[in-house]
Amino acid sequence: MTDTAFRAAERLSTIRVSEILSRSAHAIALRRQGKDMIIFGAGEPDFDTPNHIKDAANVAIAAGDTKYTALGGSPTLKNAVAAKFLRDNGLHFAADELIVATGAKQILYNAMMATLDRGDEVIVPAPYWTSYIDIVSICGGVPKSVQCQEADGFLLTPEALEQAITPRTRWLMLNSPGNPSGAAYRRQDLAALSSVLERHPHVWVISDDIYEKILFDGVDFQTLASVRPDLAHRILTVNGVSKSHAMTGWRIGYAGGPRSLIAAMMIVQSQTTSCPSSIGQAAAVAALNGPEEPIADMVASFAIRRDRVVAALDGVAGLSCRRPEGAFYAYAGCAALIGARTPADSLIVDDRTLADYLLEFGVAVIPGACFGLSPYFRLSYACSDSDLAEGLSRIVKACATLTTADT
Ligand code: PLP
Repeated sequence: MTDTAFRAAERLSTIRVSEILSRSAHAIALRRQGKDMIIFGAGEPDFDTPNHIKDAANVAIAAGDTKYTALGGSPTLKNAVAAKFLRDNGLHFAADELIVATGAKQILYNAMMATLDRGDEVIVPAPYWTSYIDIVSICGGVPKSVQCQEADGFLLTPEALEQAITPRTRWLMLNSPGNPSGAAYRRQDLAALSSVLERHPHVWVISDDIYEKILFDGVDFQTLASVRPDLAHRILTVNGVSKSHAMTGWRIGYAGGPRSLIAAMMIVQSQTTSCPSSIGQAAAVAALNGPEEPIADMVASFAIRRDRVVAALDGVAGLSCRRPEGAFYAYAGCAALIGARTPADSLIVDDRTLADYLLEFGVAVIPGACFGLSPYFRLSYACSDSDLAEGLSRIVKACATLTTADT
């Protein structure tokens, strides 16, 4: 069948399938062709969903809890979400200030779709989760990427925020701990950003707290609405069970925010998915109301792997790796390898060519270009200990073959 008659909508003109997905798919295809590949691309915990959560889903299925639910989430799940926000973050939300959706991604999509007019700007600190850029664009907005320096811990500074704000700014995206950097905002960082925000009442904030539970070394989680309750009338606090409870496939995310914004997001949701999966919601109730030991065990494993990754990468000539405070990613700097030559005399011109070169050694990482800040690469350590050890040794081997001006 020929599809020459097909014409995509203009709104898709700047949007492509995420390079993260296409690179991971390429590495999987190489593996299928018989190449031994270690793939460090995963954006999801490698742990299984805890049994008490699966059991709750089975009970829901057996009880016939298999119909549409209330548009913005079942009353039982909304109660569990309200209790979670109060318990963990000291935030009070009434039922009509909460929405549950098909993943945090749909929450973000609802929010952008409900608020952006053509040309409205959204400030996205880089390195960023790639989808922020595409969701803003597909909704007609203009993503304004602001580069955050490693020397500032990959965090947005108040000065950079002030400079990025224009009369068209609608939103600032904050994500802590962050994907891909693993960097976490402390109370004083959020307080400093707030003093800029208080001078610009037209700027609203999305606090994407999806990695809240994955923090190491006793670092305290902080979210903007708790730090500055007086700004809560323009903050959407976003969270979900995907990362905290190893539930990426169940597709449940949620948010709390101003009633008027939530009502507008509900309109969008009513015309897209109607409601999130009833089974996923029943599972999420068990996740939010249940024991936190499985989370603690998972985080303890991630912390050990984080230390291994940082030690290995930081020890490679030409690489440097800041110690992330959370999530399950390392963001390694490779500036010293840009301009290096391979044994076949080809040039490493940027982090994409470095990632391509690592593929030849059987290891897949995601170049920093995908996250708006180069030259870096992201390594996800949501994988087995043996894959981690083998993949790290392949990176060490690959980098040792490169000739730089210093070697
Ligand atoms: N926010 C960030 C920063 C993420 O990294 C991801 C997933 O990778 C999401 C949101 C989406 O999470 P969900 O699976 O709940 O849609």
